[in-house]
Amino acid sequence: MTEEIRPLIEAKGIRKVYRLGDTDLEILRGVDLTIREGEFVAIMGPSGSGKSTLMHVLGLLDRPTAGKYYIGGKEVLCLSDEETAFLRSKTIGFVFQQFNLLPRMGATDNVALPLIYSRTPNRQAVAEKNLAHVGLSDRLHHQPNQLSGGQQQRVAIARALVNNPKIIFADEPTGNLASAQADEVMRMLTGFNKAGITVVMVTHEPDIAAWANRVIHIKDGQITEDVTKPDAPPLPPAKKHQHITRGSAYLTPAEFTEHFMSALRALASNKMRSFLTMLGVIIGVSSIVAMMALGRGAQKSIEERLSSLGANLITVMPGFSQMRGVSGARTSRFTLEDAKTIADNKQLIARVDPNVNGNAQVVFGPNNTNTSILGATADYAAMRNAQPVYGRFFTAAEDERLEKVAVVGQTVVNNIFGAANPIGQTIKISHKNFRVIGLLPAKGSSGFQDQDDMIIIPLNTAMKRSLGRKYVNTIWIEAKDTAKIDPAIDYITALMRKRHRIQQGKDNDFNVMNMSNIREMVESTTKTMSLLLGVIAGISLLVGGIGIMNIMLVSVSERTREIGLRKAIGATRTAILTQFLIEASSLSIVGGGIGIALGAGIAVALSKLAHWTLIVTASSVIMSVGFSASVGILFGFWPAKKASELSPIEALRYE
Ligand code: ADP
Ligand code: MG
Repeated sequence: MTEEIRPLIEAKGIRKVYRLGDTDLEILRGVDLTIREGEFVAIMGPSGSGKSTLMHVLGLLDRPTAGKYYIGGKEVLCLSDEETAFLRSKTIGFVFQQFNLLPRMGATDNVALPLIYSRTPNRQAVAEKNLAHVGLSDRLHHQPNQLSGGQQQRVAIARALVNNPKIIFADEPTGNLASAQADEVMRMLTGFNKAGITVVMVTHEPDIAAWANRVIHIKDGQITEDVTKPDAPPLPPAKKHQHITRGSAYLTPAEFTEHFMSALRALASNKMRSFLTMLGVIIGVSSIVAMMALGRGAQKSIEERLSSLGANLITVMPGFSQMRGVSGARTSRFTLEDAKTIADNKQLIARVDPNVNGNAQVVFGPNNTNTSILGATADYAAMRNAQPVYGRFFTAAEDERLEKVAVVGQTVVNNIFGAANPIGQTIKISHKNFRVIGLLPAKGSSGFQDQDDMIIIPLNTAMKRSLGRKYVNTIWIEAKDTAKIDPAIDYITALMRKRHRIQQGKDNDFNVMNMSNIREMVESTTKTMSLLLGVIAGISLLVGGIGIMNIMLVSVSERTREIGLRKAIGATRTAILTQFLIEASSLSIVGGGIGIALGAGIAVALSKLAHWTLIVTASSVIMSVGFSASVGILFGFWPAKKASELSPIEALRYE
């Protein structure tokens, strides 16, 4: 079949019916219209006659209820959304009565906007050239609110022309202008028509319609009159049209950059709102980073401390019995006798060191501090890897004699001695004089606790003179060698059950653990703690995500007209979706960035001020970046999808 030569625009039997409640409102009732390339057509008619509706159908902003429509001989009503957008972008330019320029954007950027969707390079230069055509070379960076109405409409005309369209549709282009400015706009449209662009203009003013070469009257949705002026210049012969090929749906880097910039612009224009929106993400991410740093630090220092102890150590601690019901729970208590009996098994046990813990006020001269007091035997230093760095540890004989001697930790020295040498000094512990005989090696902090803020005194002194205790808190036991750890644990367990008269079948009311038990326990505790903190942080991220979704929904409805305009000048669904997704993720990524900085700051501050060990790990940073980005994409998707599915004309009409 040979292709016939067709006019630029052919509409046949176009009908448009709006359904209002249960009545059908027929606005266009079978419009047949043919427009040839190069024509300048005015569509006239009283208000409400359907002029704008017809123009929206012809401009592919709206779909007719029935009829056939060809542009350049190609049937266009069957095209997909993407294809229609591409056709609008390449073939059609719009000029609206309300200008529809984007605020907070310079004239050049407004004119350059359609070039993004048509994927044209050198956008700034092309836009500037088009602004020169409408005589606005001196207003390139003025924003719409810094321009007069006439100037704004000229910017809009430059925008309509920027993609070299075949047709310009102008709906009451002078409706908002004073007559001098209106004439200026009409002169321009006439000029562009002379240069070969087909112009279809809607107006209700006869003197504006007089600029056109052909005037079509429309009344109640039907063409009543179609007159071409006798003095109209001749049209070039109708010719074959090139079919417009479909554009790619993929995002170009230029589009991505533009969306990113417009996202930042949107965020910057609403600084307070953006910040409040990000707050949830900031709190979530900073707590993830800080909490994980804390958990990691605590784990590391506890592990270090444990590994500095001998491998053959066993501890016996009071524990709650596992019997049903809280009422059955009873804490066991250990006496010095318990410890001595354990030590009697010379085959399995090398040394035993029962400990008591307490707190006391310590005074030296004018200085005082509150610190932990540990009562221990002379074996403590060897068993726990704590030989004094200065002076000496106390002896078993001193312990027997209840002597008031003390070995002090470095934090205590810093707190009360300052630069003075502590060895040989007398301090008051709970109002009793003690002689300082040694300085403990530094152990650092284990997470929350400063291991150097302690004083060790002989066990008997502590129990009978200082703390006044009948029971010990912990018994440390050293097995003869590694092979004897397990038999020793069995022996101690059996012995304690017997001494505490625990009936057969009942659970222990104490815990016997070796070092690897303790390490496992510490690990599982820190894991549980991190998990718990992670869940809390995750919930706050979720709340942050909902905040983002909320604000994006507000933003979509605030910018509905902008979305309509972008679609009119060629944006596809994908482009709008991407734009709003990028906006939502920028919110969460910027929030995430601030959160990471804040969380790391908190970690550093805590380790400086409170001397806790905190380790900011790369994994926590990567995890929270990933989290916050997905929060933005996940929660931004719905508003973005909503925006992308708006019909261009409904969006443009949105108030
Ligand atoms: P005009 O000739 O003044 O440009 P329009 O084409 O804008 O007229 O509108 C024609 C008629 O269609 C008007 O009566 C208007 O109320 C009606 N109309 C326009 N859009 C809608 C809509 N979305 N739903 C219902 N009626 C509509
Ligand atoms: Mg109208």
